[in-house]
Amino acid sequence: MGKLTNFKRSLWVFHASGGSCNACDIEIIAALTPRYDVERFGIKLVGSPRHADVLLVTGAIPRDFADKLRRVYEQMPDPKAVIVIGNCGTSGGVFYDSYNIVGPIDEIIPVDVYVPGCPPRPEAIIDAVVKAWLKLEKLEKQLEGKEE
Ligand code: SF4
Repeated sequence: MGKLTNFKRSLWVFHASGGSCNACDIEIIAALTPRYDVERFGIKLVGSPRHADVLLVTGAIPRDFADKLRRVYEQMPDPKAVIVIGNCGTSGGVFYDSYNIVGPIDEIIPVDVYVPGCPPRPEAIIDAVVKAWLKLEKLEKQLEGKEE
């Protein structure tokens, strides 16, 4: 894994849940609570996608949520990264091929990091955030014209 060096601010995260059973969402909360406490690294959940660097998405995405998810993604400022948490969002999971499911999530918005599992452990979610952080560092350098 690369070294985190250049992203100059805390990493703020927005969580969108689209048809999740809630277990993936609870593992995200577990990553924030005292046992893992990612806020000590400056990683915190925010209430608006306009303030977020990273979008965490859970669930298989029912048809009526797809437009809302696109709008959430479009509201985020650049540079931004998307992490899919759980099998439902990664592949459809147990809902694969259901009549009202339009996921997996990468059919709707671009995805940077996948965290498989049903649900994944908090350690895997934290590892994914670090991977997204590395992507954001690279994008920020490109935006500043320091790297092709
Ligand atoms: S991947 Fe499993 S735990 Fe996560 S939302 Fe789907 S069914 Fe629930």
